[in-house]
Amino acid sequence: MKDTLNGIANYRKWLNAQKRAFSDIASDIAENAAKVNDSVHSFISVDKDEILLKAGNVEKSGHSGALYGVPVAVKDNICIKDVLTTCASRILEGFRPPYNATVIEKLEKAGALVIGRANMDEFAFGSSCETSCYGPTRNPWDISRVPGGSSGGAAAAVAAGQVVASLGSDTGGSIRQPGALCGIVALKPTYGRVSRYGLIAFASSLDQIGPMTRNVEDSAKLLEIIAGHDPKDSTSVDIEVPNYSKELGGGIEGLTIGIPGEYFIEGIAKDVLLRVKEAMEVYRKLGARIVDISLPHTKYALSCYYIIAPAEASSNLARYEGVHYGRRAKANDLIDMYIKSRNEGFGPEVKRRVILGTYVLSSGYYDAFYLKAQKVRTKIKEDFDAAFKKCDIILTPTSPTTAFKIGERMDDPLSMYLSDVFTIPANLAGLPAISIPCGLDGSGLPVGLQLMGKPFGEATLFKAAYAHEKNNIN
Ligand code: GLN
Repeated sequence: MKDTLNGIANYRKWLNAQKRAFSDIASDIAENAAKVNDSVHSFISVDKDEILLKAGNVEKSGHSGALYGVPVAVKDNICIKDVLTTCASRILEGFRPPYNATVIEKLEKAGALVIGRANMDEFAFGSSCETSCYGPTRNPWDISRVPGGSSGGAAAAVAAGQVVASLGSDTGGSIRQPGALCGIVALKPTYGRVSRYGLIAFASSLDQIGPMTRNVEDSAKLLEIIAGHDPKDSTSVDIEVPNYSKELGGGIEGLTIGIPGEYFIEGIAKDVLLRVKEAMEVYRKLGARIVDISLPHTKYALSCYYIIAPAEASSNLARYEGVHYGRRAKANDLIDMYIKSRNEGFGPEVKRRVILGTYVLSSGYYDAFYLKAQKVRTKIKEDFDAAFKKCDIILTPTSPTTAFKIGERMDDPLSMYLSDVFTIPANLAGLPAISIPCGLDGSGLPVGLQLMGKPFGEATLFKAAYAHEKNNIN
């Protein structure tokens, strides 16, 4: 099925030629997903009955939607009504949301076959999909390696041909970094472009939902469908959603692409650097202007993120205390029950972040850490504002390395955190950014190229990404 599921247009052509009921097709999709899952484990589990139930609804909805019958995997932190949604955490075991996230409503309205529970790092804290309480997902390109994270399951499901597309969430890189490591197209939209109603919150000032797809056109199509103002998310912005997929062609002559020196640092794998430089050449040949720019506060972005994100996470995760959701530990009294439920329910990385976040918010440390980090965040945003006076988009690698071995960075949080050194700034500044495949390294593993844009400049990103996709020689 891998070739059949390669992109919406391809799949729809195949689907239109089928002379059987959609439920039979959905049954094949479920069986294929289950088979591939044995080695890749991109889904927490593949529930065939649930898929068939959803397929029945798709059939009833008629054949007119833009995503009619298209199987889309959804990360385990996006609520699907009555379907287990656990953030890959024990603390949410057995939790079935009583409502759909807005993005799910939109996908289903467009006719998509929504398939639950793509694996992820617990509560989306991670860059390797290894902190899931259900065990790691494996990279379909080499199953001894990680798929990246935290949307590792969503990325691997697309790369392995279990689904046509998926939805992930990105707080510091969790759509783009696994997108890069799995060789697919992965977009973090502008903060406010897509409603987060029904996304289980990690860091509310950074989180965005976005599409993970096999090609740029599908990314544009999916964003068209899921974007837009939602009264249920007060941070979603009321700006018209352009017809992204209709504006892809037309070339990029005259586009100015900024190259920030601060992103081409020691520690980038040699082949990653080579492929990214080749991508610059592709753009140059297509008539783009390549200019050097500077984002001087880049070196503070990682530390700034690891104060702000855990601070917000520690507050957002206070609601898991054994009463409202999921797991409740047996205990002698109320306080004991809170403590035991959280102690049993959260894994080590979640505990690390809650402790860190609580520390930087506590009185006496608030000004020194949290407030300072907020000021640095403003500086980082101002760097981008200045840079975008000189260029239309910014080009960088997505991640310093290709997929690493399972287990390799688990004992060294700092080296894990460094996986997101190039993706975090776009979250801090609220900017849209896309990762696209730009060839392979010497071991045959995919390299990702990141393009960052101006706020609500997704159309320009798609155009540039599409031009590369059509002209890349790798
Ligand atoms: N890897 C980063 C972290 O662990 C980003 C995670 C994300 O974007 N959800 O915080």
